[in-house]
Amino acid sequence: MAASMRVGTGAPPAPGDLSGEGSQGLPDPSPEPKQLPELIRMKRDGGRLSEADIRGFVAAVVNGSAQGVQIGAMLMAIRLQGMDLEETSVLTQALAQSGQQLEWPEAWHQQLVDKHSTGGVGDKVSLVLAPALAACGCKVPMISGRGLGHTGGTLDKLESVPGFNVTQRPEQMQALLEQAGCCIVGQSEQLVPADGILYAARDVTATVDSLPLITASILSKKLVEGLSALVVDVKFGGAAVFPNQEQARELARTLVGVGASLGLRVAAALTAMDKPLGRCVGNALEVEEALLCMDGAGPPDLRDLVTTLGGALLWLSGHAGTQAEGAARVAAALDDGSALGRFERMLAAQGVDPGLARALCSGSPAERRQLLPRAQQQEELLAPADGTVELVRALPLALVLHELGAGRNRAGEPLRLGVGAELLVDVGQRLRRGTPWLRVHRDGPALSGPQRRALQEALVLSDRAPFAPPSPFAELVLPPQQ
Ligand code: URA
Repeated sequence: MAASMRVGTGAPPAPGDLSGEGSQGLPDPSPEPKQLPELIRMKRDGGRLSEADIRGFVAAVVNGSAQGVQIGAMLMAIRLQGMDLEETSVLTQALAQSGQQLEWPEAWHQQLVDKHSTGGVGDKVSLVLAPALAACGCKVPMISGRGLGHTGGTLDKLESVPGFNVTQRPEQMQALLEQAGCCIVGQSEQLVPADGILYAARDVTATVDSLPLITASILSKKLVEGLSALVVDVKFGGAAVFPNQEQARELARTLVGVGASLGLRVAAALTAMDKPLGRCVGNALEVEEALLCMDGAGPPDLRDLVTTLGGALLWLSGHAGTQAEGAARVAAALDDGSALGRFERMLAAQGVDPGLARALCSGSPAERRQLLPRAQQQEELLAPADGTVELVRALPLALVLHELGAGRNRAGEPLRLGVGAELLVDVGQRLRRGTPWLRVHRDGPALSGPQRRALQEALVLSDRAPFAPPSPFAELVLPPQQ
């Protein structure tokens, strides 16, 4: 651990100090802190919360004085009434300041970049992109999340590698960045604790799909990282939090605008989330596919998204002259093995036995499968008719896998890490009746009738001629003056 690591800066309040003293935000003429029922009532009735109100709520969440029902009620009031840009910005700051601020050596300041996703199915981009960016000379101190609703979580995927430890103290993160150039950790009591509490509460109170809550949740984690640039992958489509592209664009603009108001250079990519990203869904299976992408192989849509998002980040942070030049550099890091090398270093630095990290990164796909958790049974589904694969719907697939144990119903519940599914077909491909199209990996009894039906309905066939599948990338919302 380098001695220069400092936690907490002069500017933000001390850890746990949510008083807001010295910060700039909404003027609050009232010196009396309001009680939680009054704050909830104000937001429920469409009122606007002052900086002191928001900081008071977040302080009560962290110090335990807010009851679970009050947290749930406030989240629902925010979900239904929304927040303006200034309220969202204050909420983001208050969440970020609920824990420690990470600080890095001066020489790293231009190198610090990160990426975050609003949540998808089969989305293993972070596993590949963090080491690929490290191989391109960046430092990536990624604070990531667990599965939320039907979407998968980067931390859960990484925990399918035996020994991988997502709990790292802020002081340990600098050593990880020195060793590997990247680390992927979870929020904790030291890192954005308020987001941890609200994130878990949102998951069980139907308040995930809230524009200000998503914005504050994502940006608070990134604010403490002290970044030079951030790209957020904002999903839209049938399996995204916001199915509608217009709503997703509004979220993208909010993320970019709130980021700019807090001095964080954020770009947001709108990407389609109707079908799973890549061919694998499920924690251990997605690690295998991420490794394949870092072999320079794997599904084209995954590689496409990794290079597009990475290219945007290298451009935004001044590491590349254009987005295309940045994308080419990320692609080269996948092809020449340097991203894989960084991934191996990250695994070993975060607790994986170095021999296992080596074997995973240098092994064949079959050898890798032996080293990761595997489900007990495999079951294949057959195409019910001839046709061209128009779509494989990600949402029903994710919901069935969730039921089989790939996702949680309660916070802290253990996952069945080997449970998942492999798509055996690509969108645009011609298929004959009776051809296997999906392999389900399960631990429990055979799929139930409703589960089989839901999966078979996920396969959409048409009479069209075979076609090349489109890229998931739709548009990039840039920060002001880019
Ligand atoms: N990722 C987060 O960290 N928070 C959200 O609310 C959604 C995705």
